[in-house]
Amino acid sequence: MHKKMFIPGPVEVKEEVLAKMATPMIGHRSKEASQLQRSITEKMQRLWYTKHQILLSTSSGSGLMEGAIRSCTRKRAAVFSVGAFGDRWYKMAKANNVPADLFKVELGQATTPEMVEEVLATGKYDLITITHNETSTGVKNPVEEIAEVMKSYPDVVYCLDTVSSAGGSKIPVDELGVDICITSTQKALALPPGLAICTMSEKAVSAAREVEHRGFYLDLLALYEYIEKKDYQYPSTPSLSHMFALDYQLDRILAEGLEERFARHRAMAEYVRNWAKTHFALFPEERYCSDTLTVITNTRGINVGELNKRLGERGFVISNGYGDLKEKTFRIAHMGDVTLEEVKELLANIEELLP
Ligand SMILES: *Cc1c(COP(=O)(O)O)cnc(C)c1O
Repeated sequence: MHKKMFIPGPVEVKEEVLAKMATPMIGHRSKEASQLQRSITEKMQRLWYTKHQILLSTSSGSGLMEGAIRSCTRKRAAVFSVGAFGDRWYKMAKANNVPADLFKVELGQATTPEMVEEVLATGKYDLITITHNETSTGVKNPVEEIAEVMKSYPDVVYCLDTVSSAGGSKIPVDELGVDICITSTQKALALPPGLAICTMSEKAVSAAREVEHRGFYLDLLALYEYIEKKDYQYPSTPSLSHMFALDYQLDRILAEGLEERFARHRAMAEYVRNWAKTHFALFPEERYCSDTLTVITNTRGINVGELNKRLGERGFVISNGYGDLKEKTFRIAHMGDVTLEEVKELLANIEELLP
């Protein structure tokens, strides 16, 4: 039996979107391939409210995260982490011999504009990474406030991980001053895993030109130059199947309406938060709670693994806490094409199973 996915990726994918993955192949050097990538670019630019170039990578989101920190750090990167996915960016820097420092907060807390200001004021850094929506703790960082700080640092490349929020939360990339905004297909965009997408600003391009060893497959400058010079093509063979599905899913997303889609995510988040406060407690501070997933503190000491097993028998799956937060918290994702009605049905089932 298929279990309906309420985990923070992969999420449920509509059958008609899955079917697009079975589109007959085209040559990756054909005009049709250029047209497909151009079409995706225009739609992603609308989703992210950006004029910057859009890059695709046949990897998951982690690929572009690694590519970004390696390709664009000239001097030293400041990695702001509020959990496991922020930490990942630091590990990537270390693994690639990119000079970096890690700035962490207590789990459940956010990166504040004050922290960013204090770190950048040292003048040591020319790239920062921020996690928009930390999937291990359910924290959405205050990127609007951080954007104000970034205005004073026009030479710093700003990388933002929106892997679990793009397509669910409004992320106006240009207004926020983000240079490299990264996501992947299997979360709020509601596609199968396997493709990553990012923006790349002129500033990021100039930075990459100054970096000698950018790697090869995940060299953001190489991806960018192929698009610019080879008419929206890709240096190696991309997952055309994902591209067909993404192009189609972006039509569906735009047909729903961006504002409507973000409002649906907010409504689901509010519902789950209220439910969590009634039956358990919220893990993050409420003002920093994510629109796309809710991390709930297991105040009743239930056996989360057991609950999930029972839910599975009923055709649902949720997530245990991430890493050290396993059993101490559990996570309910409400992202992608899932509806409030479906979320209510899930919560009703959980209630029936609670001791
Ligand atoms: C899932 C996730 C990632 C990793 O993305 P992959 O596509 O699995 O590589 C990175 N950051 C956040 C916030 C995520 O939720």
